[in-house]
Formats: sequence, C-alpha cells, structure tokens
Amino acid sequence: MSRRGILTVVSGFSGAGKGTVMKELVKKPDYKLSISATTRLPREGEIDGREYFFLTREKFESMIETGQFIEHAEYVGNYYGTPKQYVEEQLEAGYNVILEIEIQGALHVKEVFPDALLLFIVPPSAKTLKERLINRGTEDEAAVQKRMNRAVEESQFMEKYDYLVVNDKLNECVEAVHHIILSQRDKVKYNTGFICEMQRQLKAVQEGDL
Ligand code: 5GP
Repeated sequence: MSRRGILTVVSGFSGAGKGTVMKELVKKPDYKLSISATTRLPREGEIDGREYFFLTREKFESMIETGQFIEHAEYVGNYYGTPKQYVEEQLEAGYNVILEIEIQGALHVKEVFPDALLLFIVPPSAKTLKERLINRGTEDEAAVQKRMNRAVEESQFMEKYDYLVVNDKLNECVEAVHHIILSQRDKVKYNTGFICEMQRQLKAVQEGDL
C-alpha cells in the first residue's frame, strides 16, 4: 500500500560531509533530494535545475509573495528557499524527501511540518572538522577559521534536532541515516491507511467474504 514519504531535513557544520552523505543516500530507491532556489550565482560546474534553481532577486521575491516556498532564508547576502510544490508532490507520491538546508530554515520547516525529521550530521570531533576543512584545500586559513567560528555558533542549535549522526565512515553514516528514516516511516501514525485496510480485510475474512 502506498504511503506518504518522510520529510527529512539535514543540517550540519560546513565540512561535516553532509553533501556527500546525502548524495549516497539518494542513490537508494524511494529518495528524492529537494532542489532549492537561490539568488547566488552558480559556482563553476553547477547547473541550473541540478544543484539549485538560480533566480534573480525579483523572481525570488515574487515567489515569496505568492507563497511558493516552504521556507526561505537570507544567508551571506543571498536568498535560499525550498520550493513547496516539488516537495509536496514527491511526499504524496511516497518518496522520502531530503532537504539539505541551514539551521534557521530547518527550524522553520519544523514549525510548518511538525512531523519533519530533523537530522544533524556531525564530524567525530572538532579537531577532525578542522582537519577536513584544511584538507579540502579550497580555502585559506582565514576562511577555515570563519567556518570554524560558524560551527561554534551553529552548535548552539544542535539540541533542537531529532537525531545526531556522526559522519566518521561514509557508508556507516549513510546506513545510519537510512535506518532512522525507515524507522520513522514505520511509526503507527504514518500508517493509518494500512491499519484501516487491515481492519477491513480482517472483518471480511471473519465474515467469510475473503
Ligand atoms: P551554498 O551557497 O554553499 O550552496 O549554501 C549555503 C547554505 O545555504 C548551506 O548551509 C545550505 O545548506 C543552505 N541552503 C541551501 N538551500 C537552502 C534552502 O532552500 N533554504 C535554506 N534555509 N538554506 C538553504
């Protein structure tokens, strides 16, 4: 029997590897990664409609006015937002939808969808985080420090999440996230359709109709 998918919001410090974890996760059946809209410019290699929908500020603002986002936030001078229609359609079709968004957006989603599952991906230790940021080699020392400072701020919100998942070994982290989502899906409250159908069938069998 088809049932509605689970909406999962994933956040984590920059360098925690959440993007890699999510890319692996959505290779499994029944998962869809939501594509956000943003007003920031595409980075090298990014394609419109794949990493983001790249929009002008005017277009983004008109979408805010017409209520087309589940949430939106301004982050380092640019807008980012989660388009409502795609997420709703995929959940309705039974897919587990993943939103990889920053903390303010995540907490807002929880207000709008109290059943959303909030996951926070963490590195095994603060020292590992710093090493990963340095080893990426894409940023200078000042930028690494900036990201570490931001992690300190963001760590204040970790307690607002439903689950913490440590990203030490990639595969183990992907499986841990997958299991959390599957367990959420098995909660009785998400299976009322199944319960009604089972009750109907039991009655039919009892009465000799099946
Ligand atoms: P970046 O510009 O590096 O791709 O993303 C910057 C931050 O915006 C990241 O923390 C990312 O998770 C977050 N982000 C991406 N899409 C959305 C969105 O739709 N809403 C919110 N609130 N944050 C987003």
